[in-house]
Amino acid sequence: TKWNKHETTLFDKIISKELPADIIYEDEHCLAFNDINPQAPTHFLVIPKRRIPLLDESDENDKELLGTLMLTAKKLAKERLPKGYRLVINNGVHGCQSVYHLHIHILGGRQLSWPPG
Ligand code: 5GP
Repeated sequence: TKWNKHETTLFDKIISKELPADIIYEDEHCLAFNDINPQAPTHFLVIPKRRIPLLDESDENDKELLGTLMLTAKKLAKERLPKGYRLVINNGVHGCQSVYHLHIHILGGRQLSWPPG
């Protein structure tokens, strides 16, 4: 998929509530909602409200936001998945990124395998 720095994605429509989503957490800087196509019994996404297309495009200015995303993912995961969980960020074509609005996947609720395919 080709991405464009200036093009918004459907995640912006979820942030603005134009598109419905199963939102599990929201604050000033981030939003968390269940993935529409879950790959584990629990599979949700944490996204920044300010759009960064992909991890590659982040820099020093995003340091605080990236930290906030990680801590938010941890907080939600720790509450819901006491036996453990996995965080994933897909970046670009080989990473299988399909939505070019940075997001952390949180997966759990069963024994996951490693390494991934
Ligand atoms: P990526 O492959 O870009 O890392 O992950 C994008 C994720 O967004 C996929 O797991 C996909 O199922 C999820 N997704 C795509 N469209 C929607 C949507 O409209 N609503 C929700 N809740 N999840 C979506």
